Amino acid sequence: MSPEEEINQLIDEVDATEEKAESEYEADSEMLVEVIEPRCYWCSKAQPEIKELLESKYQKRNQEEIEFFLSCTPEHESRAVKFLRFAEKFYFIYIAFMFVIPIILLTIAFIIYQHMFSIGFSIFISMGLGLTILPLLGNQLVKNIGLKKSILLGRIIGVILVIIGVILILTFGLAYFG
Ligand SMILES: [Zn+2]
Repeated sequence: MSPEEEINQLIDEVDATEEKAESEYEADSEMLVEVIEPRCYWCSKAQPEIKELLESKYQKRNQEEIEFFLSCTPEHESRAVKFLRFAEKFYFIYIAFMFVIPIILLTIAFIIYQHMFSIGFSIFISMGLGLTILPLLGNQLVKNIGLKKSILLGRIIGVILVIIGVILILTFGLAYFG
């Protein structure tokens, strides 16, 4: 291959890469459009399916901050508000089960190392209970699948964590003490 041919080939390759990059960018912008498509906060139905979305407000207790969200019906608006109130009221329980109790359990597990397994596995139960009581999985997920499904998913994960914790404590704990 002559040097000229080699250069031509290189130019072709660069062109092909640029074309590929452009088509990837187009795919990305399509995804972006889908993400910002207006959806009901509760059931995640998008606007084309339902004619109009209500603009709902949620006023946090003892705070001036107002959260805005969209809902497809007054019923879904009130369900979302009900959950947001519930979440605000019991957020301390969530923090306790998800962070405070696990840290305390881990500390105890390292101090009283004879019961390390049982105490360590109790973390699954603590976090599982936290998620079952208040299934908060993150705002991005709620935006993608809706609050209703994310609550259900959170509770399912919570129950699974509790079951895993109980099974681990029974199998390892009994083997350890037996
Ligand atoms: Zn809805």
